[in-house]
Amino acid sequence: MKVESLARPAVLTQPTYEPGKPIEDVARELGLDPAKIIKLASNENPNGPSPRAVHAAERALEQGQLYPDGGCYALRQRLATEYGLGADQFVIGNGSNEILELLGHVFLGPGDEAVMGDPAFVVYKLVTLLFGARAVEVPLVNFTHDLPAMARAITPRTKLVFVATPNNPTGTANDPAELLAFVRGLPEHVVCVVDEAYAEYVAQAPDLRPLIAEGRKVICLRTFSKIHGLASFRVGYGYASPALAGLLNRVRQPFNVNAIGQAAALGALADRDFARQCAQDNRAGLAQLEAGFRALGLEYVPSVANFILVKVGDGLKVFDALQRRGVIVRPVKSYGLPDWVRITVGTQAQNVRVLAELKHVL
Ligand SMILES: *Cc1c(COP(=O)(O)O)cnc(C)c1O
Repeated sequence: MKVESLARPAVLTQPTYEPGKPIEDVARELGLDPAKIIKLASNENPNGPSPRAVHAAERALEQGQLYPDGGCYALRQRLATEYGLGADQFVIGNGSNEILELLGHVFLGPGDEAVMGDPAFVVYKLVTLLFGARAVEVPLVNFTHDLPAMARAITPRTKLVFVATPNNPTGTANDPAELLAFVRGLPEHVVCVVDEAYAEYVAQAPDLRPLIAEGRKVICLRTFSKIHGLASFRVGYGYASPALAGLLNRVRQPFNVNAIGQAAALGALADRDFARQCAQDNRAGLAQLEAGFRALGLEYVPSVANFILVKVGDGLKVFDALQRRGVIVRPVKSYGLPDWVRITVGTQAQNVRVLAELKHVL
């Protein structure tokens, strides 16, 4: 008897997540100098983490023999102050990806449905399938979530609706008033997941807190991986009603977020100027890339996030050619966009480089 025959059926058909390639892998495979490779494939922060976050993490290392605070008390208190919510309204995860999985644990099983955009962040679909539920994918319109169509896709079996704004991989945001009306219009049996991974880059991001206060079944997800430059530490969080946050806290592992990450996150929150500077640099970087694409005669999707879709012909081929020249971008064929690549906004110098290499390979 093969061990596979003992696995839950959903495991055997589960697609796998394809992350952006690490610099070291590309250097090894192509015989390149890692110091000359730039990675603009995973929407990481080109400014790195705040020095305050690094310092806090270093201090936490000294206490490495101790288990972390499983309840993330200090971080939840800090976030509660930041948001004007209760500490019991937060759940902290090993990246916001873990919270997506916790949502699956709490709400999804065979026979259930989850509604999501197509293309949207692939993890919504992966989590849905892993728990044996059905992924109902609603095509985007103009690269943006089609909220009226998503509302129409809801059935009595729908448990979760995922909306990322700004969306990944498109970089587009929905109108805040439209999003709030959408959430208010959802039926009682549906939980809405608003993924705000890139909200800090947007000037006018929607504020769902009034809806949480009204008792709507909505959870907002944020991460320290993007604007705070702490992707390696794996810290993300969700905020919702105490009841919804409580359900998620019930199914997480006792020590799901390590102490170094908790300390780094607190350090990052203490450095508002750094986050503000990152958002400002990102806006300049987007403008720089857009101007470069226009000069090359390339179509792009105007973005409000820290990455941008650009139409290059054969996306896989251009990805490959760029990689050989030491620039890692993200092909998005798996997202149904074979003619495009997704490029993370880099430093000014990195943006110059990617534009020059793009010109060369095209
Ligand atoms: C990057 C990203 C996240 C963050 O994931 P972490 O697990 O917190 O690193 C969440 N949602 C979307 C849409 C993202 O692009």
